[in-house]
Amino acid sequence: MKKRILVCEFHQESDTFNPIIYGVDSFASRRYAKGSEAYDICKKLPCAFHGMIDAVEKDGGEVIPSISLYGGSGGRVADEIMDLFKKGVKETLDACGKVDAVCASLHGAMCSESFDDACGEVLTFIRELVGEGVPMAASFDLHANITDKMLGAANILCGYQSYPHVDFYETGYRAASLCMRILRGEPTYLASVDVPMLAPPAGYTSLEEPFKSVIERGKKLIADGTLLDFTVFNVQPWLDVENLRSNVLAIADTEETAKKYSEEIAKMFFDARDSYMPDLMSIDEIIDLAESESTKKPVILADAADSPNGGAVGDSVSVALRMLERGSKITMGMFVVDPEAAAKAFEVGVGGETMFEVGGKFTPGIPGPIKAMGRVRSLHDGFFRQEGPAGKGFANDCGKTAVISFGSIDMMVCEKPGASGDPQILRHFGIEPKLYDLIVVKANTSFKVAYATFAGVICAADTPGAGASNLGSLKWTKLPRGLYPFDLPDDHMLAPARIWKK
Ligand SMILES: [Zn+2]
Repeated sequence: MKKRILVCEFHQESDTFNPIIYGVDSFASRRYAKGSEAYDICKKLPCAFHGMIDAVEKDGGEVIPSISLYGGSGGRVADEIMDLFKKGVKETLDACGKVDAVCASLHGAMCSESFDDACGEVLTFIRELVGEGVPMAASFDLHANITDKMLGAANILCGYQSYPHVDFYETGYRAASLCMRILRGEPTYLASVDVPMLAPPAGYTSLEEPFKSVIERGKKLIADGTLLDFTVFNVQPWLDVENLRSNVLAIADTEETAKKYSEEIAKMFFDARDSYMPDLMSIDEIIDLAESESTKKPVILADAADSPNGGAVGDSVSVALRMLERGSKITMGMFVVDPEAAAKAFEVGVGGETMFEVGGKFTPGIPGPIKAMGRVRSLHDGFFRQEGPAGKGFANDCGKTAVISFGSIDMMVCEKPGASGDPQILRHFGIEPKLYDLIVVKANTSFKVAYATFAGVICAADTPGAGASNLGSLKWTKLPRGLYPFDLPDDHMLAPARIWKK
């Protein structure tokens, strides 16, 4: 008899400082599919769901495809989507009867309107449906907030081992392979080490030291057969929730090995904590640089705090406001999410001039809007394709889009955000980044490969927003005590590893 494995997916990255609720439409425009349709769509993509399918089938199992809900980054997920997912999984189980195991592709840093730990809630819900004896594996983003609730519900948890993320398929494959291993009755132990630390994603990548060595150490332990799996979860820090922390997991065929190496990798990861804090420049310092004739242009100001890729709104005009306040004459290009201003530009028409109020309308506490005379340069339907290398060819829909000039500032104003780290979000709409003194890029790290080919200099800015790298600038209400870089004693020792589900 073939083993029957239910595979499901619920993927979204929440930024709780973004007040806009992430609704059904946002999922529908990316991926909302069920059953064989979910199977067929995912089989064509390099995604975790696909990796799970292949690992199960390679092992002689039968995939029972359930619901796939795949969103991007944004505010909390609407409660109705949580219900939609739960209903989808329950319907699959009701229709197929008993399953031998469950594989779930999740993000791990997802909050809903009602649940801070939405992934813990989802895994617990499935656990209650299938009972304790059924192995359950879940795959996650490297930026997941792994909670005790998740660790208590699932047997296997695996996250991406790369940042920028390139191993979506592989992570699903690892999780499902380990699930099949448990079904074969082979000893499989998962150990976790809590790491009370937050790091802004603009401050590290797995391509650079010291984070690179941490990941390489784990990979070596797998290559030489010591570990079955490991993940360093460097939590996405824009989650104002009580159970916030980073985490290191290791999976091995003995408890002792899983414990020993999760502790070793966690110590390496934690000991380098000071180096994950990015060097930030003030907006004025960067404008000064762009105004200087001796600086090679364009100067790229990375406004990670307002990166829609990271879950922020994309509505900030902090840099443009400073440019206008300073009366700066240098040329600047940027994009901003403002449906009202975009609609007004359509009323005014190309070549028309009017008083605009643009930006700063959604994210609490950020400056704006800009109130100034602007001239409408062009109008668009907001469609563009990414040039990559990340996401090359992916379609984006920014809705009604206008390019409006405020003096020497050219602003792409749109209804909803697109891939903000890709130069096409400007270039496609006639704002050629190479031709400006200063370009505002609302992204953390994803933009660097494309921009590095022509940028004069790239500067990480200390800007306000729902994805601020300056973590102390955020209005926290639930931040736990004893968390780096806030109030953790310098001599803090990590707690010993814990073993889950023997
Ligand atoms: Zn991530």
